[in-house]
Amino acid sequence: MPDTAPTLLWFRRDLRLDDNPALAAAVERGAPVIPLFILDDADAGDWAPGGASRWWLHKSLAALDKSLSKAGSKLVLRRGKAAEVIDAVVEETGATAVYWNRRYEPWATDRDGGIKKALKQRDIDVQSFNGSLLYEPWEVTTKQDTPFKVFSPFWREVQSKGDPAEPLAAPKKLAAPAKNLKSDDLDDWDLLPTKPDWAGGLRETWTPGEAGAAERLEWFLDEAVPDYKTKRNIPGSAATSALSPHLHFGEVSPRRIWHAARLASEARSNEPMDRGTASFLSEICWREFSYNLLFHNPDLPEVSLKREFEDFPWRDDPDGLKAWQRGQTGYPIVDAGMRELWHTGWMHNRVRMIAASFLIKDLLIHWREGEAWFWDTLVDADLANNSASWQWVAGCGADAAPYFRIFNPVLQGEKFDGDAAYVRRWVPELAKLPDAVIHKPWEAKPMELSEAGVTLGKTYPKPIVDHAAARKRALAALETIKKE
Ligand code: FAD
Repeated sequence: MPDTAPTLLWFRRDLRLDDNPALAAAVERGAPVIPLFILDDADAGDWAPGGASRWWLHKSLAALDKSLSKAGSKLVLRRGKAAEVIDAVVEETGATAVYWNRRYEPWATDRDGGIKKALKQRDIDVQSFNGSLLYEPWEVTTKQDTPFKVFSPFWREVQSKGDPAEPLAAPKKLAAPAKNLKSDDLDDWDLLPTKPDWAGGLRETWTPGEAGAAERLEWFLDEAVPDYKTKRNIPGSAATSALSPHLHFGEVSPRRIWHAARLASEARSNEPMDRGTASFLSEICWREFSYNLLFHNPDLPEVSLKREFEDFPWRDDPDGLKAWQRGQTGYPIVDAGMRELWHTGWMHNRVRMIAASFLIKDLLIHWREGEAWFWDTLVDADLANNSASWQWVAGCGADAAPYFRIFNPVLQGEKFDGDAAYVRRWVPELAKLPDAVIHKPWEAKPMELSEAGVTLGKTYPKPIVDHAAARKRALAALETIKKE
């Protein structure tokens, strides 16, 4: 006799119906499926989603519920410790199976292991799947079966595996649970900001949810990927996919992206991986690399991978930190980035590197302060990518830029924002300055400043540090840990 008792499908960072292996397996099982989402802040501790992520989560859950309704089902919302909520729902529904797609944050892997064990002891069919990565962190290893610490060989190894498995189609119809289950009201979770409502820029910029992700991917593959390699470092051009929040919340799978990108490349150039596609897919694999690092180094969000950096003489500088957070450092490219972040919940990758470098090296403020600010303000805040990237910029991570390579924010601005389109957009008070001085307004002639309506120290700050002096200070600080 087939088991007709329901399957509990625990949605987590896989908020989609397309290419969702746990959902496909639940449907395959034949019994009614109970789609459940648990607001598990209690389990995540310090790494519960920040403000911008909570806004996204609300919108994404609303979108998922809509998709489920179209398929004849409904999302059940509960809040609390996941183990307790799952127990309660299993009890209420008589579910005999619990399926989910895996997460890789250390707090989640510990917790999920415990839940799995407890459910197995009760003879529940409990299964987890890979719904977030091309390959599991234990599937891409060196010849010695150890984790990669350098990206290039990691990327070569991924390519040598050929294409990942084909994505799975979304189910058209879902057998809904027989009785109506109690569910929280999404609005009661207070995920959206109210007083004040700072989310206007987020609303203008994003369409969270699976449909928004599919649209973004289609646009990118139609319009932008051919020039991705040459333009991906230019923050003033819309040359990257902006898929990061969609990927973080699992509204699109990396397998779907991989196969769609390969097909688009073939249709365009008769090559399965033209230059733009290869470059884009290698970035998708930086994400995989970060997940690998986090999985094998669970303290990555808190502790420098290169342990000597734990003794680095970081400065305590609340004023500097505040100026950085508010985009008031006096360095236009840094300020543009920090203001883009505040307004949209996202920042261009090149500018993330410049802004992070400025905090860590020009201000000598601990990378963890920057990591925490990004955690709260990014819509794509992701424990693996955020911690790995901050450590990368700080020079204490895997395959990191050496600490002594210190970005000059003026030269970076001039090189990657030569026409100053980006700075003019995000630092409008400088918009009328000529290109030649807009990245270093303190070098503008008095006439240029007055014609542009700029009064340094009044309408726009003077630089909070002198870069040349700050660079020397940073290198001297590095010497102290070298000696130790
Ligand atoms: P695209 O260029 O279109 O790339 C496609 C996808 O590949 C991205 O969506 C992302 O998932 C992945 N990717 C691209 N670059 C990287 C990278 N360097 N490392 C890891 N994955 C990458 N990314 C996050 O998703 N979440 C974070 O919290 C995050 N924090 C960062 C903090 C710092 C200090 C820095 C320097 C980078 C950070 N990144 C983070 C990486 C990167 O900046 C973003 O993934 C990228 O800017 C997202 O834009 P996109 O989707 O247009 O990227």
